[in-house]
Amino acid sequence: MKNHRIYDMIIIGGGPGGYTAALYAARAGLDVVLLEKLSAGGQMALTHQIDNYPGFPEGIDGYALGEAMQQQAERFGAQTEYAEVTSLELSAEPKAVHTTEGSFYGRTVVLATGAGPRMLGLPKEGELIGRGVAYCAACDGMFYKGKTVVVVGGGNSAAADALLLSRIAEKVIVVHRRDTLRATKIYHEPLLQADNVEFCWNSVVTELLHDQKVTGIKLQNILTGEETVLPCDGVFVSIGRKPATDLAIGQLELDAGGYVIAGEDTKTSIPGVYAVGDLRTKQVRQIVTAVADGAVAVHMAEEYLA
Ligand code: NAP
Repeated sequence: MKNHRIYDMIIIGGGPGGYTAALYAARAGLDVVLLEKLSAGGQMALTHQIDNYPGFPEGIDGYALGEAMQQQAERFGAQTEYAEVTSLELSAEPKAVHTTEGSFYGRTVVLATGAGPRMLGLPKEGELIGRGVAYCAACDGMFYKGKTVVVVGGGNSAAADALLLSRIAEKVIVVHRRDTLRATKIYHEPLLQADNVEFCWNSVVTELLHDQKVTGIKLQNILTGEETVLPCDGVFVSIGRKPATDLAIGQLELDAGGYVIAGEDTKTSIPGVYAVGDLRTKQVRQIVTAVADGAVAVHMAEEYLA
């Protein structure tokens, strides 16, 4: 066991919620460590241009914002350890967080692991990421200039992705399992008017066709059962998000979508464990709401530790 030190707070996840908790905890004089698998910023770091985080009149690159948040927290003494969490003992005293780099022990734990894209679950989907399968139009759209792309989904993300891609790709085909978009009305008109956007309604993707890269998809009409082949260069999967909460299954109360059940006070079903950012049950999942959660969680933890 590498780490016998008992921290006041262990934060899991280095996105905006996690690093805000780290900043507030360090400034409150708590002995705090933040565990991050890759690099600061979380999903935010994948966003090229962020225009809805106040204080940056020209917008800011998400990766740069993540790094700045990390530096700010570390300036006050927050410590970052790069480690992948493998299991949790949240009801133990102290709480234990087991990682690829050893075990960490803390009196409180802040979960800030966020949410990632939901996958279609098709064979080879994972292997084809970066070779025609993508989950972020803002990040990868530029690779499809002048090409034909499919967007799967019918919610706001799919609609926003289809619009963005219609300005880059030659042709965008939206594949949706219903006969109308779920997305808010504001997207309908511009999408229906775009010359290069087509719709395949009542359809699901049943197969990704490929050689080294994606060459097309197999579609099934869910009303008639008819199968068709659609040649394309890229498939943008935009069917919602999945919270990174697998490690909490069986320990914390989760909702049907896998989100940690916690209110605005970020308190979970286990005292001393707080859920911050996109993995928590909430209405609005944004950077500004994640950073707010981070501050609230530290306030609650201070009360718990007192
Ligand atoms: P979402 O609203 O949950 O929509 C997911 C879409 O994917 C739905 O149309 C759903 O179909 C479809 N879908 C789900 N699983 C599927 C599967 N296995 N195969 C095929 N299709 C599948 O998710 P989202 O669009 O990512 O949005 C998430 C949240 O962010 C929402 O609250 C959204 O309003 C918000 N958001 C807002 C904006 C904005 O500009 N205001 C932009 C992006 C996101 P069904 O319709 O049949 O369920």
